[in-house]
Amino acid sequence: MARETPAGDLRLANLTRRFGALSAVDDLSLTVGQGSFFALLGASGCGKTTTLRMIAGLEEPTSGRVLLGDRDITALRPYRRPVNTVFQSYALFPHLSVFENVAFGLRRRGIRPVDGEVTRMLSLVQLDGYGSRRPAQLSGGEQQRVALARALVNRPQVLLLDEPLGALDLTLRRRMQVELKRIQTEVGVTFVHVTHDQEEAITMADTVAVMNAGRIEQQGAPADIYEFPATAFVANFLGQSNLLAGEAAGVSGGDVVVTAQGARFSVPVGRARAERGPVQLGVRPEKLRLVGSADQVPQGHQHVTGVVTDASYLGVSTQYLLRTGWGAELSVFVANSGTSTPVPVGSTAAACWDPRHAFLLSASS
Ligand code: ATP
Repeated sequence: MARETPAGDLRLANLTRRFGALSAVDDLSLTVGQGSFFALLGASGCGKTTTLRMIAGLEEPTSGRVLLGDRDITALRPYRRPVNTVFQSYALFPHLSVFENVAFGLRRRGIRPVDGEVTRMLSLVQLDGYGSRRPAQLSGGEQQRVALARALVNRPQVLLLDEPLGALDLTLRRRMQVELKRIQTEVGVTFVHVTHDQEEAITMADTVAVMNAGRIEQQGAPADIYEFPATAFVANFLGQSNLLAGEAAGVSGGDVVVTAQGARFSVPVGRARAERGPVQLGVRPEKLRLVGSADQVPQGHQHVTGVVTDASYLGVSTQYLLRTGWGAELSVFVANSGTSTPVPVGSTAAACWDPRHAFLLSASS
């Protein structure tokens, strides 16, 4: 498929949608770079679909604007927008062949389908030779590809995907994630993908926006958000985090000094979102190491000691729970590399970390 003339970035400016007293989307502003794969990630009911429907023109904003490049498209009717949507329910016509289902996308807009174009689209989604089948003769993943081809044949400038893989089993979903990413790179269309699956968002998207209660909590490259979350919500929605309540006492020698669990810790200034007052000291479970006692803690590492209360075998790793004398519970992932020795439940151990892997959040986040 030939690339479209540049549409420009998609911008949502102070977008709000109220349903009675509820602000489903609350003063939301974000920019989706042209040609990027953007994921809107959040729990059920946080306002993802409402946001998508406002971009598509299916829902009228209570206030705010939708812009594509320098065009304000807020008031445009859905079919006038260079935007298409792929839903979780594929909504294919059961009585039409695969070919006709894809061609329908063009006919709907009054364009006579050219065989080559539909065939090219089927090839893009790797359904060469499937044109004469009926949807009932396809697997769920294949039906989803037809829905994708039908949306892309219109050459939209923005493609909206609302949980498009939600109905597929896990193996197929993982395969389709890779496929979707390949197709997006090939066509260069801006994709806005809504999902509640954090793994899906971080494996596919260039940019992830984590949404909570109608607002964006944090937006950025997946690795940046994962490594340095902005809020406790993000720290726990994207993976797991150990968060220890503490008190920050300012900066000394490039580190924020924190008291927590009756001990002193330091966090590099560049990894701290607060320097004074009540804070949460965060470390991801896979960034922690478990050693038998404090004197085995490597040079330059920090640690807390406690009792191992649980060990769960997870295949690639074992998850240990360590209860500290101050009542905190830490989760530690130890890779089952073949060289690791199991730590018995009930034994005393120290969980240690390199301070460069810790992060500091304001307690009010
Ligand atoms: P899910 O992942 O479950 O689809 P979501 O993040 O897409 O959730 P939305 O569908 O955008 O969430 O809904 C956001 C909030 O707005 C929810 O509390 C929902 O109940 C409410 N809502 C959505 N549409 C309407 C409507 N037409 N009338 C009243 N409330 C609505």
